[in-house]
Amino acid sequence: MSLIDEALSANATIADGFDPSRGGPPKPKIAIVTCADPRLTDIEQMLGLAHADVDMIRNFGTVIDDDAIRSLVLSTRLLGTEEIMIVNHTDCGMLRFTDDELEERLRKETGRAPIAPAKFYSFTDAVANTKEQIFKARSHPWISPDVPVRGFVYDVHTGRLSEVLADGQAGPNS
Ligand SMILES: [Zn+2]
Repeated sequence: MSLIDEALSANATIADGFDPSRGGPPKPKIAIVTCADPRLTDIEQMLGLAHADVDMIRNFGTVIDDDAIRSLVLSTRLLGTEEIMIVNHTDCGMLRFTDDELEERLRKETGRAPIAPAKFYSFTDAVANTKEQIFKARSHPWISPDVPVRGFVYDVHTGRLSEVLADGQAGPNS
């Protein structure tokens, strides 16, 4: 049996105890962009945040790409979230290759030339990369300057966050 089949079977049982109030309209307060890495799953718990308060936006590498921007604009403009947290992490898989290396490997494995995605957004330094993602989100004209955008690196070995200040950004206590 595949994991999907197992999940379907489990859902049929687990849903028996479902709380219907969970189906009410969402009222998130904060948007978090983080990596799809399973170690970041349930990051709300490590932050002491209620699931209902969070719009969680995840992709490989915590990238502020077109799709993350799309979600952030919808989250802040339509759903009313008032803060944006970008949470990169240590030991990200995106540190283990370069875009050129991966493209070369995929060309060899498949015998085909890549058309899309044009970029995989690999990176070499989680702090520098997080600064870049803050900059990209902060630069978008449809994300209000009233919405704070703060970046962090989550240490997968300690569970602790370190704040990354964008160049020229004042610290939270200054
Ligand atoms: Zn990652």
